[in-house]
This record gives sequence, C-alpha cells and structure tokens, in this order.
Amino acid sequence: MGRRRHPEQDIDADVDENAVVTTGAQDEAAGVRAVMVALQRGLTEMGPLRTAATLARLNQRHGFDCPGCAWPEEPGGRKPAEFCENGAKAVAEEATKRTVTPEFFARHPVAELADKPEYWLSQQGRLTHPMVLHPGDTHYRPIAWDQAYRLIAEHLHALATPDEACFYTSGRTSNEAAFLYQLFVRSYGTNNLPDCSNMCHESSGTALTESIGIGKGSVTVLDLEHADCIVIAGQNPGTNHPRMLSVLEKAKANGAKIIAVNPLPEAGLIRFKDPQKVRGVLGDGVPIADEFVQIRIGGDMALFAGLGRLLLEADDAAPGAVVDRTFIAEHCAGFDEYEKQTRAVDLDAVAAASGISRDQLQRVADMLITSQRTIICWAMGLTQQRHAVATIGEATNLLLMRGMIGKPGAGVCPVRGHSNVQGDRTMGIWEKMPERFHAALDDRFGIRTPRKHGYDTVDAIRAMRDGRASVFIGMGGNFVSATPDTEVTEAALRSCALTVQISTKLNRSHLVHGRTALILPTLGRTDRDIQTGGKQAVSVEDSMSMVHLSRGRLQPPSDQLRSEVAIVCQLARAVLGGAHPVPWERFTADYDTVRDAIADVVPGCTDYNTRVRHPDGFQLPHPPRDAREFPTHTGKANFSVEPLSWVPVPPGRLVLQTLRSHDQYNTTIYGLDDRYRGVRGGRRVVFVNPDDIGALGLAAGARVDLISEFPGPDGDVEERRAKDFLVVPYPTPVGNAAAYYPETNPLIPLDHTAAKSNTPVSKAVVIRLEPVRSTAWAG
Ligand code: SF4
Repeated sequence: MGRRRHPEQDIDADVDENAVVTTGAQDEAAGVRAVMVALQRGLTEMGPLRTAATLARLNQRHGFDCPGCAWPEEPGGRKPAEFCENGAKAVAEEATKRTVTPEFFARHPVAELADKPEYWLSQQGRLTHPMVLHPGDTHYRPIAWDQAYRLIAEHLHALATPDEACFYTSGRTSNEAAFLYQLFVRSYGTNNLPDCSNMCHESSGTALTESIGIGKGSVTVLDLEHADCIVIAGQNPGTNHPRMLSVLEKAKANGAKIIAVNPLPEAGLIRFKDPQKVRGVLGDGVPIADEFVQIRIGGDMALFAGLGRLLLEADDAAPGAVVDRTFIAEHCAGFDEYEKQTRAVDLDAVAAASGISRDQLQRVADMLITSQRTIICWAMGLTQQRHAVATIGEATNLLLMRGMIGKPGAGVCPVRGHSNVQGDRTMGIWEKMPERFHAALDDRFGIRTPRKHGYDTVDAIRAMRDGRASVFIGMGGNFVSATPDTEVTEAALRSCALTVQISTKLNRSHLVHGRTALILPTLGRTDRDIQTGGKQAVSVEDSMSMVHLSRGRLQPPSDQLRSEVAIVCQLARAVLGGAHPVPWERFTADYDTVRDAIADVVPGCTDYNTRVRHPDGFQLPHPPRDAREFPTHTGKANFSVEPLSWVPVPPGRLVLQTLRSHDQYNTTIYGLDDRYRGVRGGRRVVFVNPDDIGALGLAAGARVDLISEFPGPDGDVEERRAKDFLVVPYPTPVGNAAAYYPETNPLIPLDHTAAKSNTPVSKAVVIRLEPVRSTAWAG
C-alpha cells in the first residue's frame, strides 16, 4: 500500500543497492504475479482511486497511449485491460503523487544529488517547476518560464553558427511536439537532431532502407497471428514488449512454430501465463519457443547465412519448393551474388561463430523450409552489434529468397522500444531527412531549411567533447544515462555553456550539466492538456505504423507544467522572433492546426485529423507491404551481400552484452528486482556461465570489476572499468556474459559503433573480470 512521508523526507533514502539476493531464473512470464506487481506498484505510487482511473484508460480508445514500449494495440476492439505489468509500472512512474518541488532542490545541492543512484532519483517524483542552475551555483532555483525561454534564446543567438547546438529527442515525444520541434530546430538553422533511435533501431532502419526501401517493419498484429513460423531474434518480449506474448499465444493456437534466437533463455521466450485466461491463472500457461536457439553473442549473422545455405540446398533437392524465383525475378536485385556467396558459406565456421550444432541448424532450416508464412522479429540483440546492419540484411535475405515480403502472415518485424520512437522519425526527427521532406516543409511555411546533415547521437557527443557544440537541449529522455562511454559523455555535457532538459521526472542528466542548466517540467501522457483552444490530444505511431490519439485525463502535478507542444512553440517565438512565418501561437492553442500542417508535409498523413480520430487510428503506407513496391536505389528489393562477421572470444576474456532488468524501461529504473532472472535488491550483477566462473578462477558471489578492452588509437589497448559487480552463475553461452545498462555504459567506447548505422555497440564488449573482494554469497 502507499507509503506516507513527511514533506521533508525523501523516498528510500537508505536503500542499499548492493544487497543483492539471487533466487534462480524463472521459466515462465506474466501470470498472476505480474498482475499483483502491477497493482502494488500502482497503489504505492498513485493510491487506489488514481490507480483505478489510470489503468482503466491505458491503451483504450478514448484514453492515453502507454508511455512504455511501442507494441501496438490489437485492432478491432480493445480488451478492458490492454496493458502489461511493465506498462502499469510505466504509468505508475509517471502518474505518481510524489513531487520534486523547488523546496526539494533547496534542500539538496546538485553535488549531493549527483551521487545518488538513478533509482533513487526517479523515486522522488514529478518535477513541478522550471528550475535554473546559474554558473557557480550549488543548487537549482526556480525561474519563470519567460525568463527560461529568454535565457535559451540568448545562448542560441550567441553561437557562431546554429550547428553549435544539439537538439535531442526521446521516444516519448508525441507526433505533434516532434513535428514542431524539428520545424523549430530547422527554422533556427541546423539539422542537429540526434534521437534515441540512433541508439536502438538505427541499424534496422539502415538495413531495411537498403533492402526494401523503407526502414520500418512490414507486418501487423494480424500478420503475426496468422504466420506459421515466427523467428524472434535478439529480443526479450517478456520484459520489453510483454503484450507481444499474447499475440504469440494466438499465433501458436493457430498452428505457428516459434524459433527463439537469444543468448539467454529468457522467461518470456519459454512459457507465457496470460493472467486474463483461466489457463494462465490456474494452469501451466503456454510454451512459447518450439526451438530455443542459444546463440553466442554476435553469432546471428552466421546463423542467418548458414540457414541461407541450407535453404538453397533444400531447393536444389526439390527445385521451386523453397526459393521463390518468380518473386525474385519480378521484385529483387542482387540474388545471383547472394546465391554465390551463400553457397560458399562454411558451416563449420557457422557452428563456431554461433555455437549452434549442425543438427539444430538443420532443424531450424527445416522449420523455415516448411513454412508458408514466415515473420522475423528482432530487437536490440541484433541492432547493437558491430555488424548489425549486415546481420539484419542476412535475416531479410531469408525472407526475400522465399517471397515472404508483401504477403499476409509474412515479413520483417523490428520491434521498437520507446512508445513513439518510430513516430518521431516519421515527423522529421532525423539528422538527414530526405530532400522531399525539406522541400515540403519549406513550401508549407515559406522558409528555407538547411540541407547540411546534422549530428546523430554519437556525433553530437563528439561535437560537444571537441568544443564544436556548446548548447544541448533534450526533449525528454535521460541522455547521459542512455549513451555510451559515460565518462566521455559526462565531460562533453559539462563542457557545454548551456544544457536544457525538458522532463517529467528527475534524472541523472539534470545533474551532469553545462555551466548554465535548465530543467523545464512538462506534461506526461497521463496528464490533462488544456490550451486556449480547449482540451488537447496528441498522436503517436506504434511499431507497426498505426497512428492513433492519446488523451491524458489526470490533473497535472503543478500548474507550472507546460506541454511539450507549448514549450517548443514558446521557445521558437523567443528564439525566432514574432515575425517568423510559422504560426507558433496558433499551434499552441489548438493541436488540430499542427496536425493539418503534418498532413501537408509528412508523406502518408493526408487528412490526418479525420483519420487519426478513427477508433483504431490509421495505418501509414508501407510500399513493400502494401504493393510489393520497393523504393530502393535499384527500384527492387536488394539482397544484402556482406562478408561474414562474428565476435570471437579471446582467451581468458568474456564477451558481454548489456540488458535491462524486468524492473526497468530504458534508463528508468522502476525497482531493484529482476524477477524473471531471479535477482532481488540490486543491479550490480554480472551473469556468467558456471563453466566460465570456474575457468576464470572465480566463485559464485565473487565481487569483480568489469574491464573492457579495445584497441586504442596508437595500437595500444584502451581499458575502461565498471566497478564492483557480483558474479551470478547463469546459463549464458560459454564465453558470454550479461550485465545491466546503464551501469555498464562506461565500458563502451564512443567510437565502438555499428558499421553504417553508427549505433553504439552494446552487445559485443570484450571484458575481463578482476576480483575486488570476496563477499558472503547470498544466492
Ligand atoms: S506491451 Fe508495451 S505498450 Fe503495451 S502495455 Fe506493455 S509496456 Fe505498454
């Protein structure tokens, strides 16, 4: 039940995040326990009335969109409880009754807050007032909104060029706010629009744009339900997209086979207990994976290439039964080169790279060969590898070979993370939007937007580090915790003249700041948004290109909060002046006017205001899905042909992947437990295979530093250290380890990025473990 606290008392001030207890991994996800956790989290944060009112509207037609992941609602009528445990946690986190007021900031110097863990910071509650930290100040203090906008304008006007400012966006930002934000930034004069997509699915966008001409998935929920074979690679749906499990359950009931490809045997890949079904409450639930492929970290490209060879050989044995030569002839380019390379793939190398036996490789190939409708899903287990773009290209090759794009029940399915990360990109949040977008923007508003490409996230950090950028504005998110190379990123932000964070809750990015820093508190998804034109709704796009409205109903935690739309428009007026041709004031008053502008500029958004009001919203066009048209440079779907790469494990070392706990969404830490992996009370753990623990001369429960090793600029070895982790025996592949992010971000050099997409490579970090002290083993 909800805890009471004295206004002067901060939450969980004495929590010990190192008091970790392990209880062993679970082999099932959801169930009644998930409902209990969801309810308990809601009651603690919001109290009974607010919990009931909020959860009843979560993902409902006249309610608000979940601020968690981007998984779509089921079309054609929503169930009463259209949310999962982690959606409920995300809502409780936002709709909490706790507040972070000016008095809180007066009590706590910034230096003290900077020493607090991320979990403690987020537990303090919602930000209530705009705050400023002037150079030399020890505490944030309140500032009036007008003064805050003026301060930002002064800094932006003082820059030698607009390219010295970086404007970051997180995936929570609505379509309306994102459209206006990029319009403001481009009107100001730069394309420096890094976003969180640069760090997650940029590799998917890059690979799919090359292969099929559009960087989005080609399937719907209905396709998944009617597929007969679903590959889930590098994805942990039980924690990161939990409602996907009920879709997979339906697919299985319709006869689908599921192949789970992952280094860890995650609970959600093994068994699902749907708490809305008797079988999920009283019975054993439903097994998910028919074949669990425990891949070595970084071995996915080899797996897909090996499968390609087996599929080609199966077609040799039964010509025409496997390879769809009609589809290839009509719609594809590059097949001959792909076929030549793939026939030469060394299956022994595939086994070495992937850790998969020849028998299992053949079993998986047989499942693909017999399938008539295959979908391949993936997430960051694939996108954050060094050769991520080539890996996704190989996965797409398998589908193209079989004519599995633009066909019901088949296609590509990159499963996006944050709830509107895909919509923000659609609205123009990208450092290199195509010319047609710029031209439409210029035409609509009578402006001339800059064409020079801007900085993505990694380049923005480099620019701040090197003194080429000195103003950072973050629209949502927690930049410093989301990005790699923590020491470098923190130094980059601290070197800025001004950092501005537009936020709902306190986070570490408020405490790692420029010489002047602003915190601008904004409305969340759950909050009522009333402007001079009346009650407003915003729109979002899910992972399957469905766009729909979201309307918050809760009383905001303070009358000092502004919507993201209002903040962008007021900031634009302060920076660009009253004579600027964009009608910023009208946009703030009535978001329908923003949607009218979106309709004129953004492809596929014609008649946006009408279509977004349809109960299920509307689906954006996708030429490969809709008409087997492939808007690539060849005008066809392109087979990807890249040399085979994988990540070898050097002697005495491990290859580390970062991951989230079940009590976490991106950088937001809801709690210190990871129920499915059997960890309670802390986060500084490293999961290691028992054979490796023995081989490295360690013991379960040892405390170790994680030290990453990368080639330095002068041929030397650069080392980075993350201190004091508890070794937890876990069934990882031999040679592989896993630990939570953001704790492990310091291990990843800024330049360790994926080829072509520049996405930080968090899924292949070579580390050694260095014992620091022994501890009583509580496992
Ligand atoms: S699956 Fe994702 S979008 Fe749906 S309720 Fe859960 S966290 Fe929210």
